[in-house]
Amino acid sequence: MAIEFQITRYETTFHNPLKNFELTKIPCEIRYDPLTGQAVRLISIRKPNLIAHDWTPFVEESRRRFCPFCPETIEQATPRFPDDLIPGGRFRLGEVAVVPNLNPYDKYSVVVVVSPRHYLSMPELTPEVISNSFEAGLEFLKIVSLKDPGGAKYCSINWNYMPYAGGSLIHPHLQVHAGPQPTSLVALMLDKAAQYYEQNKSVYWTDLVASEMEKNERFLGRTGSIYWLAAFAPRALFDVIAVLPDRVTINDITREDLGNLADGLHRVIDFYKNANVASFNAGFYFAQKENIGFCVSARIVARFTIFPLVGSDYSHLQVLHDEAWAMYLPEQLAQDLKPYFQTK
Ligand SMILES: [Zn+2]
Repeated sequence: MAIEFQITRYETTFHNPLKNFELTKIPCEIRYDPLTGQAVRLISIRKPNLIAHDWTPFVEESRRRFCPFCPETIEQATPRFPDDLIPGGRFRLGEVAVVPNLNPYDKYSVVVVVSPRHYLSMPELTPEVISNSFEAGLEFLKIVSLKDPGGAKYCSINWNYMPYAGGSLIHPHLQVHAGPQPTSLVALMLDKAAQYYEQNKSVYWTDLVASEMEKNERFLGRTGSIYWLAAFAPRALFDVIAVLPDRVTINDITREDLGNLADGLHRVIDFYKNANVASFNAGFYFAQKENIGFCVSARIVARFTIFPLVGSDYSHLQVLHDEAWAMYLPEQLAQDLKPYFQTK
């Protein structure tokens, strides 16, 4: 079943000060997410010209302040798990530590401290670092889903890299959570995926990959069994989707999958760095066996500041209208990002 990609196009006309006040037509698009139907407004800026951001002063200041995730403080400053959940109260996988979030927002809300190092620049986020920290998050989710299947039913692994993306601490960490209730977007994805399966007798993500490969406008490439796409309806700047075919639950994910996911994320992050992106958000979504038509996917988007010092890329549209906006066409992103997926 071919996926339908819907766009509504508008034109605004004005006397343009950038063109000697010539009467100029400016295009604008509203795109609809092919699964959820959510609208996204695409602004006509074709290529964002981001200014390189130097985190050094922020990193230095954060070193002078207290950091709960540094090796000398982590044992004293972070909560311990109850012994019946994690015997001994501490959960580690190699250099990676998993600790309860001091400010939980789900029944199981934990932080994966990616590295003992206080700061990792984008190039230092190697596939190994990414894969190990995602593995630690996944192992924790497996433990809670076995102990409390109902209470840890809906789970995800997320990443707010650096403060523009909502990361409150410089020290690199992932946000992993599980609870009896899905987030709003996951609830919508589960619902729409089941509806799609009922109507078409096929999995939406399988059809999405097939349609995108056939069109070849937004398809980026593969890392092992994972397919990478520039999102048709981007939720933010440089929105990239990874599809893991035939995977539904956390138990379907293999170490090889994590390696392939980390490989692809590393390529996207390399592109972000070269595009002067300062921060990013990533999400890795799972469901339960009974969620018909679902498929595990991950998503990564760039976050930036509009001006060198301050300026949020979130505005009234996202906060008060539940509507994403983005600039830079996904088709252009695919052209620019594809070469990163073609090298070994
Ligand atoms: Zn630290």
